[in-house]
Amino acid sequence: MPIYEYECKKCGKTFEIYQRISETSKDVKCPVCGEPDPQRKISAFSSCGTSGSGGGYSSGGGCSSSGHSSGFG
Ligand SMILES: [Zn+2]
Repeated sequence: MPIYEYECKKCGKTFEIYQRISETSKDVKCPVCGEPDPQRKISAFSSCGTSGSGGGYSSGGGCSSSGHSSGFG
């Protein structure tokens, strides 16, 4: 189940909501103030490697966004 992260632009509260693919921010409200129009953020739980079936895809990079990879060791 995908997780959608929302951020209330009213109070600034960030919360995650479990929604389905079909349902796209239908009845999403802020659990704090109840703002019916929260800002959806890009969650790191984004579906990765959905396309392609029956392939030897294991232990491979590409999903993770490249960022700071310096200073290891
Ligand atoms: Zn709020």
